[in-house]
Amino acid sequence: MADIKKDRRRRAEENHSGTVSQQVLSEVQLKEYNYALRILPQEARLLEYYRDSLATVTAGFAEVYYNFLFDNPDIADVFYRYERDGGDVGMLVRKQLENMLASITDASANSRQDNLVAAGADLFENTFRPVWIIASYNLLTRFIKKQISRMEIPATDRSTLESVITTVLLRDLGLTMEGFWRASHAVARKELAHVAADLGMVEDLLSGIPHYVWSVDVKSNTVMYANQPLQSLYPDTMQAPIPCLADTHEDDRQQLLNTWQDAVSGSNSYAEIRMCLAEGIQHWYRISLFPSLNRLGKPVLMHCILEDINYLISERKLLQQLATTDRLTNLPNRSLWADHLNLALAASRRIPGSQVVVISLDINQFKMYNDTLGHDVGDILLRDVASRLNSIIRESDSLARLGGDQFGVLLQPANKARKATERVITQILDSFDVPFTYQDKQLCISLTMGISFFPDNGSSEDSLLTNAESAMQRAKRNGLPYQYFDPRNDVSPEEQLRYSGQIRTALDNNEFLLHYQPQVDIQTSRIIGAEALLRWEHPVEGTVMPHRIIPVAEQLGMITSITNWVLVTALRQCKQWSREGISIPVSVNVSARSFQNPRLLEKIEWALQEADVSGDCLEIEITEATLMQDLDHAAEVLNRLSESGVSIAIDDFGTGYSSLSYLKRLPIHTLKIDQSFIIDVGFDQQDVAIVRSIIDLGHNLGYKVVAEGVENSMAWDMLNKLGCDTAQGFHISKPLSEGHFSSWLSDTGHAA
Ligand code: C2E
Ligand code: MG
Ligand code: MG
Repeated sequence: MADIKKDRRRRAEENHSGTVSQQVLSEVQLKEYNYALRILPQEARLLEYYRDSLATVTAGFAEVYYNFLFDNPDIADVFYRYERDGGDVGMLVRKQLENMLASITDASANSRQDNLVAAGADLFENTFRPVWIIASYNLLTRFIKKQISRMEIPATDRSTLESVITTVLLRDLGLTMEGFWRASHAVARKELAHVAADLGMVEDLLSGIPHYVWSVDVKSNTVMYANQPLQSLYPDTMQAPIPCLADTHEDDRQQLLNTWQDAVSGSNSYAEIRMCLAEGIQHWYRISLFPSLNRLGKPVLMHCILEDINYLISERKLLQQLATTDRLTNLPNRSLWADHLNLALAASRRIPGSQVVVISLDINQFKMYNDTLGHDVGDILLRDVASRLNSIIRESDSLARLGGDQFGVLLQPANKARKATERVITQILDSFDVPFTYQDKQLCISLTMGISFFPDNGSSEDSLLTNAESAMQRAKRNGLPYQYFDPRNDVSPEEQLRYSGQIRTALDNNEFLLHYQPQVDIQTSRIIGAEALLRWEHPVEGTVMPHRIIPVAEQLGMITSITNWVLVTALRQCKQWSREGISIPVSVNVSARSFQNPRLLEKIEWALQEADVSGDCLEIEITEATLMQDLDHAAEVLNRLSESGVSIAIDDFGTGYSSLSYLKRLPIHTLKIDQSFIIDVGFDQQDVAIVRSIIDLGHNLGYKVVAEGVENSMAWDMLNKLGCDTAQGFHISKPLSEGHFSSWLSDTGHAA
């Protein structure tokens, strides 16, 4: 409130100093006063005659006046504030007093009239209210009348004097109020000028901005204001509350209407819409609606802004492209690919029996190319690989660079997904048979792939990719071009992390043990060997199976120690059996990594010595893929082993390269047909055909043939019919701990 008053004074001061002449009455106006509140000549003469006596009697008024002003808390308050703001109250009151008294002692002086008008303006500026001015004159009138009544003068003079003085005081009050009113009027005019200037400024601003702005009366749906750009754009259709509705793209019209409805219910609302303002040109606009609400919260006015955001949309698209595209290959990056995958999963959930395929691809030895040929060549290579893959993948499927030398392929939901996958994989492998050319050099590049299926191998984008990667890692370990995810063989990254610390101590803590699975002659049903299978008695998780131990151990560089332990433990057991009268060899699995170890031979010899058994007590099981990694090395190791009487078995036969030409070069004794062909061999004709040809092939090469995974008598009988030599599987026995194995030997009449 005090600020408002200060402002009023400031404005009044500006006004007063700049336009004093406005507070001086014109001659015509003065004439008006002198006519309306006329003093007759005889009245003027009487005033002149009693002037000195009147001056004497009015001397006492000053005290009365001061008491009146300062005893009154309201008016005193105005004075104190005036003084606090730097004004001189004494001077102000004195001036007012002088003006009032001059009415009586100097009633006819013309100059006074201007003084009174100026005094009224002053009082306005000093925030006095008219009531105090009128009250002051009332006080003076009463005071003078009282004094005149006490004067010893003729009665006719007294009554004339009283009436003329009333006229004089009323006229002076009028002139003072005239000044007050004029000052107040001038301030109001100036304020109005300020408001008009402000409005002009706002109008200039609204006309100058590159937005269309308008306000709509919500009740009548009429446009109350429109800025210049909007008026130029829609000179005729300004009646419509949303003038741009007709130009809005038909696909966005409903959205615009919904946004309007939201705003009409009271909330600020926005929409991004396409508009066709010029022939054939489509622009993006944002409409922002701000309802102005009444006391009941109901929108009265709707303020609307329409702005061109075409540049913003383009930038947004560019940013989005940068955020979702791999800049080197222009393929989608991991995050966009994940979106595609999630969409495919959602679609697949709606198609019963459909599967989505995730393939993780990795360039073999990319690091070597990068390090030896330089990163520029590495980049070119990645681009070439990307475009070669792109030429194979259908447009509806999705290829992405997931990072480094890793790519991802997603095949859309399909009912015969496995077949489609085989086709894509074959195409990819075939296309990579053609070497890449760089500066006249031919580079042979190969890929390793891991495959997972939705929903069988995971329900989320994350788990599917992780599992495809695990399968890809396993394929790499085994030197295979691709592998399907297999929960029995692939370890999740979390598990890898969890086990990595624990596997190191498991050996020292004697947490590993071996189970033995008998192998029996199909003709005689007699035991002819046993396979040693690793188990980990985890202190918390119980028995952990080998497919979860071996990959982690390989990665940690622990596999050699584990293989050594298995070798010596299995051979000691073999020695123990022979002491008990059962002379059978034990089979030990050797992983790819262990097989590559140059000290493997040395360790095998040490284990044979340690257990005090000869080489023919041991059979080494190696997969085809392990052999294929380095045939020369394999030949050398196998020859040396064979010389010391150790037999060699090819494990999981049939799942790898299926090319037997290499086998001829190697001293191999046994083929172990992979259990995937055996499990259904009792009733699946296709499996029968495969198993038959493997058995024939093995026999032709002079190998003993073992069938793994014999689970029932049907399989047993079929294998018997097909001439298979040996059977291993749950139908005979599950892998058994050392103690249970001895019991099994006795129970089945093998033990002496
Ligand atoms: P593998 O060498 O092919 O061993 C045979 C696997 O088939 C064993 O699984 C065995 O329990 C399982 N099996 C045997 N008969 C049947 C049957 O009738 N039906 C079915 N469904 N399965 C049967 P396990 O013990 O889980 O071993 C898995 C794989 O882990 C082994 O496959 C082998 O590759 C590897 N492995 C086991 N022990 C060692 C080891 O000490 N060192 C290395 N490097 N690998 C090992
Ligand atoms: Mg084996
Ligand atoms: Mg096997």
